Parts: sequence; C-alpha cells; structure tokens
Amino acid sequence: MRELARSGFMSNRGRQNVASFLTKNLGIDWRMGAEWFESLLIDYDVCSNYGNWNYTAGVGNDARGFRFFNIQKQAKDYDPEGSYVKHWLPELQAIPAHKVHQPWSLLPIEQQRFGVQLGLDYPQPIVDLFQSAQANEAAYNAAYDAAFPGAGGAAAQSTAPGGRRNRRRPRRS
Ligand SMILES: Cc1cc2nc3c(=O)[nH]c(=O)nc-3n(C[C@H](O)[C@H](O)[C@H](O)COP(=O)(O)OP(=O)(O)OC[C@H]3O[C@@H](n4cnc5c(N)ncnc54)[C@H](O)[C@@H]3O)c2cc1C
Repeated sequence: MRELARSGFMSNRGRQNVASFLTKNLGIDWRMGAEWFESLLIDYDVCSNYGNWNYTAGVGNDARGFRFFNIQKQAKDYDPEGSYVKHWLPELQAIPAHKVHQPWSLLPIEQQRFGVQLGLDYPQPIVDLFQSAQANEAAYNAAYDAAFPGAGGAAAQSTAPGGRRNRRRPRRS
C-alpha cells in the first residue's frame, strides 16, 4: 500500500493480495478498496479496476465460492529474499529473509537485534489470516442464504459455468 501511495502503481499480484485481504480477511466492502485504487492508480481503468475487485471479492458473475489468498505463502513464493518488502518497509531491513515475512513472531531479543520494536516501529497483526477468513466465509454464506432462501444453502451453491461444482470451503491461492 505504501508502493501504491508513493508511486501510483502496484503489480497485479500485489493488487490481488490486497483485494483478497480487504474483503476476505477484513470483511470490508470491496467498493471501498476499488475507490481507494481509483484515487491512486496511474493506470486506473474503470473496467479493469472494478471488474477485478468484484471478481476477487467473490461477488461477480463468476461464482467460484469463497476463495482467499494465503498472503504468507504468496510472500514466500514471490518475494523469497524479502527484497520487495524491505524496499517498501525499510524498518524491516535488518531482519533475515526467513523471518521477514512474519515479523510478529520475533522474540524481544530479536526485535532488539534487528532494530524493530513490534507495536512501535511495526504494527502487530490486525487479524489472524485463517480465523478471519473462516469468520468472513460464514458471513458471506449467511448473506447468500438470506438473498437466495430457496437455493438450498450456500454450501450447495450452484454449478459454475462450464459445469464445475463450486466449493464453499475456503480455498487458498
Ligand atoms: C484489484 C485489481 C485492480 C486492478 N485495477 C486495474 C486498473 O485500474 N487498470 C488496469 O489497467 N489494470 C488493473 N488491474 C489489472 C492488472 O493489475 C494491471 O493491468 C497490471 O498490474 C499491469 O501490470 P503489468 O504491465 O505488469 O501486466 P502483466 O502482468 O505483464 O500483464 C500483461 C497485460 O495483461 C493485462 N492484465 C494483467 N493482469 C490483468 C488482470 N488481472 N485484469 C486485466 N488485465 C490484466 C495488463 O493490462 C497487461 O497489459 C487490476 C487488477 C486487480 C487485481
């Protein structure tokens, strides 16, 4: 988000992770994220922006059930050395690569050694990734069941175009 604020750009993978976290972990209305992107993106395009937010939030035409990005795995897969995260979060500069994607797990002595104090230089996590996704999935399912009471429940949700049956369990990308 600092990259977006300073440069007006973010990679597609970054955008997907942000949109997933905002909607599936924080349970915030996707339109707020879309408006934030609209206000900052140098490549802002109404169709790409709103279409991608809508899709990632899981409320678009293409119903694929509740899926969310495992941001921890994404960080390790696409930023294994932590160079991207250290570039935009220089307060994490001294943390070794294998610990940089989970600064909240640093012991007090490690925080001292790496010059980052949790809650002061870097925030504590605001949600647990998997618990928050589970809670939001329950909210999504309840909203679906309220909107479509005759559909047999969110768990039995329709078959996707092409015949594949949707899974309502969280799927981690
Ligand atoms: C939440 C979200 C919001 C987005 N908002 C915008 C926006 O406002 N304007 C915009 O142009 N793109 C948007 N995108 C699509 C995509 O992120 C950017 O087009 C891409 O980051 C451009 O970077 P690139 O040149 O590295 O593309 P590459 O990854 O190299 O892709 C090559 C081409 O494919 C297109 N492309 C890649 N991914 C997507 C995608 N998910 N959807 C549509 N086209 C894609 C790009 O335009 C690019 O020209 C959004 C994606 C997400 C997930």
